[in-house]
Amino acid sequence: MIDEFAFDTNEERVKHRHNGTGWIEVIVGSMFSGKSEELIRRLRRARIARQKVQVFKPKIDDRYSVVEIVSHSDMRHDSIAVANAQELLDAIEAGTEVIGIDEGQFLDEGLVQAANELANRGVRVIIAGLDQDYTGKPFEPMPQLLAIAEFITKTHAICVKCGETANYSQRTSDSTARVEVGASDKYEARCRQCFVPHADAPSVHN
Ligand code: ADP
Ligand code: ZN
Repeated sequence: MIDEFAFDTNEERVKHRHNGTGWIEVIVGSMFSGKSEELIRRLRRARIARQKVQVFKPKIDDRYSVVEIVSHSDMRHDSIAVANAQELLDAIEAGTEVIGIDEGQFLDEGLVQAANELANRGVRVIIAGLDQDYTGKPFEPMPQLLAIAEFITKTHAICVKCGETANYSQRTSDSTARVEVGASDKYEARCRQCFVPHADAPSVHN
């Protein structure tokens, strides 16, 4: 099994910043892999360091709460719900040093430019999101964000069938819409062996 928590934390890099520039951190993985937990952990540490933090999530994700990001293990952090990347940019306050964004795959392609702009301005931008949709296809704009990020963390869930490292979000409902918001009622974490491409979706395995 891969030890998914053996990664750098990046906070130390804040202290060693010489030129005032920001950067982009991306956290990706399947559902239940701990992306929200890891994002919340980093944001809490930034707040402990007395940095000004703002947190966003897409309006589309109304699973639990419109004013918080919430992990499957019920870790929570206040957040602002935005409809698109422009709304996010407009909501940034003067003096904000760290920006967290959860469920980045539900925001538009403008998020790539917005993340770059903010990092260029000196902000630490941390974005969590699904790297693949329920068919296993890259889930835009996360691939583009992975390409421009300084730091990337891939998190893994546990396959509910066999206990191996899970990299896929298996949809258990009949829907073939790309965006189908849900949790364990509609999705399961699966490994490569146990992942079964959705019956009506184009397969990535053949
Ligand atoms: P993500 O944001 O990647 O969907 P979360 O951070 O919301 O993940 O939730 C991670 C938590 O989900 C784990 O710490 C664990 O408590 C719970 N969990 C439920 N099912 C699984 C699974 N199959 N594999 C790993 N964690 C799971
Ligand atoms: Zn498996």
